[in-house]
Order: sequence, then structure tokens, then C-alpha cells
Amino acid sequence: MRAFALMVKGLVRQVPMNPVLVEVALPPPVPGTFHYRLPSDLRHEAAVGREVLVPFGRRRLTGAIVALAADPPADLETPLRDILQIIPGDPLFSETHLAFFRWLSTYYLVPLGEVIRTALPQGTRSLTRRLARVTEAGRQALEQGKGSPEEVEVLLLLRGEPGLSLDQIRGHLPHEGVGSLCAKLSRRGLIVWEDQLRGPRVSARRLKVVRALVEPAAVGETLKPSERDLLGRLAGGPCLLRDLEDQVKNVSYWVQKLAARGLVQVSLEEVYRDAIGPAIIDAGPAPRLTAEQEGAVRAVSEALRRGGFASFLLHGVTGSGKTEVYLAATAVTLELGRQALVLVPEIALTARLEALFRQRFQSRVAVLHSSLGRGERRDEWMRVRRGEAPVVVGARSAVFAPLERLGLVVVDEEHDASYKEERGLRYHARDAAVMRAKLAGAVVLMGSATPALSSYHNALQGKFRLLHLQHRIDRRPLPRVMIVDMRSQRGGTVISLPLRQALADTLAARRQALLLMNRRGYAGFLLCRRCGHVPHCHNCSLSLTWHRAGESLRCHLCNLATPVPSLCPRCEAPMLRPFGFGTQRVQREVQRLFPEARVSRMDRDTTTAKHSYARLLADLGRGAIDILVGTQMIAKGHDVPTITLVGVVSADTSLQWPDFRASEVTFQLLTQVAGRAGRGDEPGTVLVQTYNPEHYSIRFAREHDCVGFFAEETTFLRELGYPPFRRFVLLQLAGNVEERTREAASRLAERFRELRGHHSESFREIDMLGPAPAPLTRVKGKYRWQVLLRSSRSLALRETARQLLVWGHNALKGSSVTLTVDVDPLSLI
Ligand code: ADP
Ligand code: ZN
Repeated sequence: MRAFALMVKGLVRQVPMNPVLVEVALPPPVPGTFHYRLPSDLRHEAAVGREVLVPFGRRRLTGAIVALAADPPADLETPLRDILQIIPGDPLFSETHLAFFRWLSTYYLVPLGEVIRTALPQGTRSLTRRLARVTEAGRQALEQGKGSPEEVEVLLLLRGEPGLSLDQIRGHLPHEGVGSLCAKLSRRGLIVWEDQLRGPRVSARRLKVVRALVEPAAVGETLKPSERDLLGRLAGGPCLLRDLEDQVKNVSYWVQKLAARGLVQVSLEEVYRDAIGPAIIDAGPAPRLTAEQEGAVRAVSEALRRGGFASFLLHGVTGSGKTEVYLAATAVTLELGRQALVLVPEIALTARLEALFRQRFQSRVAVLHSSLGRGERRDEWMRVRRGEAPVVVGARSAVFAPLERLGLVVVDEEHDASYKEERGLRYHARDAAVMRAKLAGAVVLMGSATPALSSYHNALQGKFRLLHLQHRIDRRPLPRVMIVDMRSQRGGTVISLPLRQALADTLAARRQALLLMNRRGYAGFLLCRRCGHVPHCHNCSLSLTWHRAGESLRCHLCNLATPVPSLCPRCEAPMLRPFGFGTQRVQREVQRLFPEARVSRMDRDTTTAKHSYARLLADLGRGAIDILVGTQMIAKGHDVPTITLVGVVSADTSLQWPDFRASEVTFQLLTQVAGRAGRGDEPGTVLVQTYNPEHYSIRFAREHDCVGFFAEETTFLRELGYPPFRRFVLLQLAGNVEERTREAASRLAERFRELRGHHSESFREIDMLGPAPAPLTRVKGKYRWQVLLRSSRSLALRETARQLLVWGHNALKGSSVTLTVDVDPLSLI
């Protein structure tokens, strides 16, 4: 509840002696930054981070100041234009923040304006909107009754309004061709389009606050009982008028009376929206650290006290108590007067961590993640920016949190692929976190039971310092992992006899089991037994998955849903049969085998409602579920001591995924899900069903042997010239017409060969793979082609990609094919 005026100190850097120019980043799709002249009356107000309104071609756009300068750039081509306005409000970001944005822009080859858009909470910037209004000529035309009935309709509509966007016009006149009709009217000068400034969509919530100006005792006898009651309630501090309404009858009347006598004051003040999710655990006080935890905390604390950048990779087996290490390191950071940023892969899946941090640091914690409402998100952001919340717990995008005195960055489950953003600014939050810590002189602590191969590689290279937690808390044993070779199993193809027996034993012992099946839906796909046809999505090159709920076929890429056909769409035989299976089928099968058991399912289909995930987890925690079937969601981060059995229904689902990281992902998934078993007093058992029992991912997961796995996998990766030994940059072309997309890809490849021909040595060390159609050739109606650049020289690689992007920006202007870039792609699908 603090006034906006008490804002962020130190956000405004000194302006150069006499700034005459500003550099402005504009919103996407405008690339690059642009210089403008600063009219002299605006000079004292200009500051980095301030929003401005500027002319751009024939448009007016809002942007953010990213630099102030006293001299025009030397390579100026056209005369500079003036900025039109500095928009009132606080800067959007600080200098420190901007340094991080600039790095992201350079590294991920994305314009600064796009980085800024990605980094700031949605709806907190000003924008311009293009609105149409009727001109004088338009009014005359109306009076003279000129124009077709459709034209008159548009003019009449606009005459009554200060301005309407094209979408609004379409909303009022929902027939075809409104767009071209408007274009015609504007060409004839009957209407004009103007960009109008619109403030942020989300702003502070202001509510009436009542505060007492006197003690009730000091007023003596002159008070009515209700007035005395009211003053009594305010004795403990100011209250929201809204809350008093429930407690005192006719409160507005009494407040007014007291205010008239100068005894209370009513003011409109900013009140933060509440972002707290449901409590799912009660963790109790901090335990005494084990010797191993102590050692890790000591190393991190020393680095924190020393100051400056340091990076640690905490490799701790599942159940070794990594969270306590994060909590202890955060406490040290706060003691030192600095701030901590704690990243988790998906906040819904790690609600436990959020709850633990809240319990330990109370209101000093802010949370930032996508399931917050826009208003909540904005408010949490402001609490951080104003220095009121020195601890931030959040998902991927929390890496942008506006912390000015950052001391510690924690990246929990650092191997998790959800840290990678797959659209727009395709950053990896772990890598970005390392850079953010470097820029802030902070310590970064990455933790995992199954570090990413690239992180482990960095540790071996001495870039990250390795810390180990080799034992589970209380020296509980790691679970025993057994492989079920499905080739020699008779009977059930979903649940083998050994798994069935293990489930029966677990139920008899009143313990709980998790069953991992990494595909949702009922069947993998349908196949016609007569002609071999498999129904595919007509937007994507992917077979459709059969979902029993709602009896539909669904595309897992674009979400298209169609009814299940009874006849084969190709040969019309009634011979469509399900192949492969998913979580729905597993749930049904288990329920059939154990009718008495309470079986639940956790996948994207059952967790769409807000808090449904937390509720399933809470049910699991209090023993209301016997068997939980789920996708990789069930493998992540929870700690339920009564789970003693984990079954992996099919280890092959992720192993067969045609991507270069399939082995690594499978190893991590198996090890993580196994880690959910035996976290209490009873030891855990894991059964892994597979048709590939000799695959090394499975063999090493059985032994919980990360180091062995890394050794084997790196041998392959080195031979193949894959990351981390060489870097990848993926350039992807997408278009509506296959032929044009393919052609654009081959022109891009041609351009690459030219560049390599002309340039120095370092360019020659860059290989190109492709152009080739992407393995998923069609997604959401777009054809996709790609060119993969590869080199061990990261700088030269990115420079080449940058030049190709500049080329593509010009060459593809006006075409329907788009070119996007993915630096360090996690997937080539
Ligand atoms: P990890 O994240 O490494 O898998 P957790 O942080 O979830 O492990 O810890 C596993 C369990 O051990 C949790 O229930 C936690 O409360 C408990 N725990 C952690 N540290 C200690 C400790 N020093 N003493 C007792 N219990 C602990
Ligand atoms: Zn689709």
C-alpha cells in the first residue's frame, strides 16, 4: 500500500551533459533501434527506460528510450525527426536491466524492442492504436447523400464515434469486404486513419483506505457507539473501506461523519492484488542441515560474501535436500542486503517450492508466472521493482524480474526443457540466468539430480563449479530399478505381469504408486487394418491421437479435434483400429485390474482448470489417491513420502522421439520419475517396461549413474559434432505454400554459400546442414523448411546467422514466408 511517488531509486542515470538525441527501441515487428531528436523542452525529462511517442514513416508509435546522446551518429542517412512526446510515468526499466536486454538481443539475434516486449509484464506499456474517423469531406458526402449504401453505413457509424479501429468497425458491420471498403474511403479522403496513444491496459488498483487520526480514548464521551466501534477497529492500523463494510453497519455514513470532524481520513491508495495460490504443504521450521548440505551452503555463502560473479552446479540425487540449500543460500543473500531470484521450470509443477519460500520468507517473496492474472502479475512486478519483495520465485520469464541488487540466482531443475522459450525471443532461462548473474556480479546456483549434459560439460570445463549431494536425506537408499523386457512378456501389453504384481503388493501394503506414460489420450493413433491408412491432422504432419473422453481424434500440435470416424476415410472399410496407447488407456486398464483402487490421472487434459494440478497433488499427499497415472508432469519435483512404487509403462515413447536429445531426455525422465519413489521410511521400487532393455539410457538410469551416462553420450555427441561440442543455430522458414517455402530455403542456403565464399577463415568453419524440410513438415497449416548452421566458433556462427537474417528480412519482404532463428535450439523437430 505505498504511493506510486515513492518510486525506485537509482533507475535514472545521469543524462549526458546536453542530450540532443535519443535512441529508441520500437515494438515488434520493427527491427533495430532508431535515433530521434529531442526537442529542448523535453531534455530534462528524457531518461533511459522512459516511454516516448515517435513518428515512424506515416505512423506514430510508442517506444522506449535505450540511450541518450549528445552527438548524432556519424553514419546518419536521413535527417532525424523529433520525438513527439515523453509519456508520463516511471521508466519501464533501469540501466542495469537494459544491459541484460542488450545481451539477449545480441545473443539470440532478436531486435531489442522484441526483447523488451518479452521481458515486461503484459499490458503495462503504452501503445498506439490505429483508429479511423470521418473527415470534413466525409461529412459533406454524407449530407449530400453520396456513396453506395455500404459506404454510407461506414460513414454513419464513424460519424458518431471519436475513432474506431478496423476490428471495432468489423464488429459493428460484420459483412465481407469492410477492410477494402475502408481503404477506398480513406483513399478518397472521406475517412482518415490516425494512431492514437493508449495508456497501459493494466494499472494500479486503487481502493478507499480509512485511517484514524486520533485515539478513540482521546475523543471521550462525544462518540456514538458505532463511531467508537469504528475507531476501535482502526486503532490497529488503516483498513480498506471495503473490508469494514462487512464488519460495521452503514459504514460509509459513519466514516463520513468522523471524517467531517477530522477524526479519520479517507484516501484512495494503491492496493496490491493478491497473487497467493492455495497452500499445498505445511513444511514446518528449517531442519538442521546435513553435512553434505552444509558443505554446499558454505561454498555458495563464501562466494556471496566475497562478492562478484560465481557459478555453481549442484548435482544432488533425488531426495538429497537441494531445496534446503537454496533456502539457506537465499537467507545468506538477504543478510548481505542483496536480493535472490529463484527460477523453477513450471511454477504449477513446483508449487511446493513456492510454498516453502513463502513459509520461510513470508511477504518478502514475490511470485511471477503465467497463471497469474495480468493485474496480479503487474502488482508482483511492482513490489519487486520498488524493493519491497527481495525474493522472487518464478518460472522462465521471471529471469527478467526487476531486481536491482541481485545477489543470488537459483535455477532449480536446471536440465528442464521448459526453461526454453520456443517462440519469439527463443531464450533459455538457465543460460540467460547465468549471464544475468554475470552482469550483476551475482552468484548463480543451478541444481538438478540429472544435470543437462551441456551444464555438466561446462562444469568439466571449469566454467561451473560442481557441488555434490550424493546421499538422500537420512541416508535413505535410492530406489531399486528393475527392467521389464516387454519382448518376452505374454499377456498384457499395457501392464506386464511383474508390474501388475508390484501394484497389487503396493495396494496391499496401503502405499501409493505412480505410473508414468508419456503420451496423453487413449490410443496413439488409428490405423485401417485393410488399407493401412492413418488419420492425420489436416493442418499438421502428425497422426491424430484417439481421446476417449468426448470420443474425438485430436492433434497434439494444433489442438484440432474431430469426431472418431467409424469407417476408414480412405477405403471406407469399418476396419479402423487403435494402435499404441496413452494415459487414458493406462488408467482404464489399471482400474480394470484393480476395481477397488482409487486411480487418478494427471496430464494436460486433467489439469487445465486453475489449481487442478495442486489439488491432485494435495490428494496424493493426503493419501486419497492409490495410483496416479500421468505424463512427465508426475516426474517433477514432488515429495510424497508414501509413494513406494513407480512404474514406467513405456520407456520407449521418449526414446523413439526422432530428435538429437532423445537419449538425454529419456535418461533424465527415468531418473527423475524413479526419484519420486521411496522418499519416506520405506524403500522404493521402480519398474521400467521397455522393448529396448539394452539401450544405454535405460541401463544407466537403472544404476542412477549420471556420470556413466554422460561419458557414453558425450562420445556420440563429439563424433557427430553435436552440442555441446559444436553450437547450433537453426534458421526456420515457414509459409502457406510449400513451393515458395522450399524456394526461400534454397535461396537462404545459396546466400550462406556466398557469404562463406567471401569471408575470412572463421566463416569457413561453419557447416550448413540442409536446406531440408523440418521433420514435422507441416504445423498449424504452415510448411516448414530449415537450415541448420553449426560451428565450434560461437561468435562467427552468430555473426553469420545475423547476416542471413538481415538478408532474409529484405529478401522476404512482402512474401508470405517468414524466417525465424533459434540460437542453441533444444530440438530440431
Ligand atoms: P531434492 O529436491 O533434492 O529431491 P528435497 O529438497 O525435496 O530433495 O528434500 C527431500 C526431503 O528431505 C524433503 O521432505 C525435505 O523436507 C527433507 N529434508 C531436506 N533437508 C533436510 C534436513 N537437513 N533434515 C531433514 N530433512 C530434510
Ligand atoms: Zn494439427
